[in-house]
Amino acid sequence: MPVSHTARTISALAANPGCPRRAVLDAAGVNKQQIAAHIGYPAPFGQSQFAITRGNAFEARVTANGAAQLLTLLRDHLGLDVTEVGYTELGEVGGSQSRELRHLHTRHALTGRDHGPRTLFDHPLLRLRVGGRHAYLEPDLIALRLDGTYHVIEVKSFPVIDGQADAAKVVAAAIQSAVYVRALRDLVADAGGDPDRVSHQTILIAPRDFASQPVATSLDIRRQLGVLDRQLVRMAKIADQLALIPDTLTFDLDPDAGGTPRRDPDDLAAAVALVPANYVPECLSTCELCFACREEARDTTGALGKSVREDLGGIEHTAQALALARGQLPSPDRAEIAAQLLRAAQLREQLLGEVI
Ligand code: SF4
Repeated sequence: MPVSHTARTISALAANPGCPRRAVLDAAGVNKQQIAAHIGYPAPFGQSQFAITRGNAFEARVTANGAAQLLTLLRDHLGLDVTEVGYTELGEVGGSQSRELRHLHTRHALTGRDHGPRTLFDHPLLRLRVGGRHAYLEPDLIALRLDGTYHVIEVKSFPVIDGQADAAKVVAAAIQSAVYVRALRDLVADAGGDPDRVSHQTILIAPRDFASQPVATSLDIRRQLGVLDRQLVRMAKIADQLALIPDTLTFDLDPDAGGTPRRDPDDLAAAVALVPANYVPECLSTCELCFACREEARDTTGALGKSVREDLGGIEHTAQALALARGQLPSPDRAEIAAQLLRAAQLREQLLGEVI
């Protein structure tokens, strides 16, 4: 059975949009974590239980008592009028947690006009089409301003210290928020509304200085939204990529009755290798196949990152770059890059000499 996408896995698509391997595996809905483990490159992925518990406790605190603490923050950020505040819990429908029912209920609650003032929607269930299938997604909260503008709110437990948070975590939160904004825009459009009513300004709620006091920060997610949209279009056109790989290709692990994979790991690794990859160091924090792909990309300049790949345009392997830097590979059409590499190598030697 194909694995379901989450906001986290969809966000990861946007992290390396140029990777056909990831696009094909995700479109096929295969479990990349199991594949990585079976071919000998397990990668520890997913949040630690400690982080999940801490995150849940913080979210419970800011949404307690009808999100009283949160509303104070939002009044500053969105200009909410306290007299018009309404809080709607969408976590279940009449005791049912059916995803289809919850999604319909969310759509009705967010776009219907017959329920009086509503401002905060807790546990809405959105839907996004990814590679031909619907993925159900649950943002922390959606706030509706009095002028009819929707804002996605993400509650994260990483701290904001002296007004600064871990940049990588903020970027990850922005990408995740972009996934929710895209899904919410689709929902509003499906209901006949104007998708531009869903703001590209999302709101990040995080604890201030390790204390339990929350702080709100606006994130402009337009760039992330653009990357995400392009990747979703690529996944919708996955047939173009599938045309390049053999019909017989399968990533089936052939599990026995107990779920233990029986497929020959080398055979599976060969199947994975048939789909071109585009390894970048960012894969280490976003994709379960990172260790396998890093090994495969060993000795290539691309494995050193996008900026190195661009700086060394056309030089595929580190051995080539080193040979050019040592003046061992005379090549008229690479004279310029060879001179730069030589200069960089001399500077490095000089610095190392001074340090030693
Ligand atoms: S780890 Fe491999 S499959 Fe995943 S995005 Fe990177 S290159 Fe692509």
